[in-house]
Amino acid sequence: MTDFADRVEQVSISGIRKVFEAAGEDAINLGLGQPDFPTPAHARRGAIEAIESGRADAYTSNKGTRQLREAIAAKYDRDYGLEIDPNDVIATAGGSEALHITLQAHVDPGEEVIFPDPGFVSYDALTHIADGTPKPVGLRDDLTLDPATVEAAITDETAAFVVNSPANPTGAVQSEDDMREFARIADEHDVLCISDEVYEHIVFDGEHHSPLKFAETDNVVTISACSKTYSMTGWRLGWVVASNRRIERMLRVHQYGQACASAPAQYAAEAALTGPQEPVQEMVETFEQRRDLVLDGLTDAGLEVPTPEGAFYAMPKVPEGWCEEVLDRGVVVVPGDAFGANGAGYARLSYATGTEELKEALEIIDDATRAVR
Ligand code: PLP
Repeated sequence: MTDFADRVEQVSISGIRKVFEAAGEDAINLGLGQPDFPTPAHARRGAIEAIESGRADAYTSNKGTRQLREAIAAKYDRDYGLEIDPNDVIATAGGSEALHITLQAHVDPGEEVIFPDPGFVSYDALTHIADGTPKPVGLRDDLTLDPATVEAAITDETAAFVVNSPANPTGAVQSEDDMREFARIADEHDVLCISDEVYEHIVFDGEHHSPLKFAETDNVVTISACSKTYSMTGWRLGWVVASNRRIERMLRVHQYGQACASAPAQYAAEAALTGPQEPVQEMVETFEQRRDLVLDGLTDAGLEVPTPEGAFYAMPKVPEGWCEEVLDRGVVVVPGDAFGANGAGYARLSYATGTEELKEALEIIDDATRAVR
């Protein structure tokens, strides 16, 4: 008997954790991937009322409550004019489980999954866990993903490619034309386009476009979550939208692995989606002000940084030894190579941190940058 399955031996614990562990207790943390805002009160109340009335005690339907799936479908209509059948939605344990069941249901052993490098760490790990072959591809100078790069990487062995806009770790937002191209590529090459849209509402310049809007086949699967939009990372509630035949396959993985998303979280999500959206607007306005602050601070320090148009990250190019110097001076940032080999020479800064702390961190970064030059 072998000890462990190859698919897990090929996966290591995220490099991001290691940075946190190396930091002192008083460090200013620009490493976080979650908004520093409370979950909106009406979302919390949705869960509390469901718990107190006993409605959240039992399993829900495997796909999630009908009301939540209707609220998700209504969201796509409200935001993008897209008509979604609530039966074509599965509520999941965050965007993470949505990604997991999508890959499990579509990737055969050895098949390739193309994804952005630098990119969100789970794409590589979940591809391994699905017994697939990760195929990271580089980005344009502005850190967006070029559809032509994806198209050139497609082979007979390609099962899927991942598009993530707004993106972690870069903050880059893909244009409408790019999204149209991604949809065309999925249609023409008959490969799955997995559109990870967990940051869809955190956009400062222009607007978010989903490739779902442009696809002529059912080859686009859309993933999103309450995690970032409603500052609900701890609730673990996301979803996947796909055609019925795809949803039925993903449901087989979800049903046996998860049974259903946590019922209290489903009621909170329903309340978040159907209630007032002002808390989201206020959060996004704050992130935009901080984005401007960070961009100015990094540029003044002499660093080159593409303007992040969404999410809450900036990804400057940094000189050798910069991350260590910054960390030594008490600011936590994540070295770019934690997000893939092409991330080397970059660092990810999250501005999901209070404005005063950010200002302090930017001063330290300014000094540190001069010191390593
Ligand atoms: N996709 C991206 C790009 C992310 O950055 C994250 C979380 O950081 C996720 C998916 C997973 O989100 P969730 O917390 O909903 O599982």
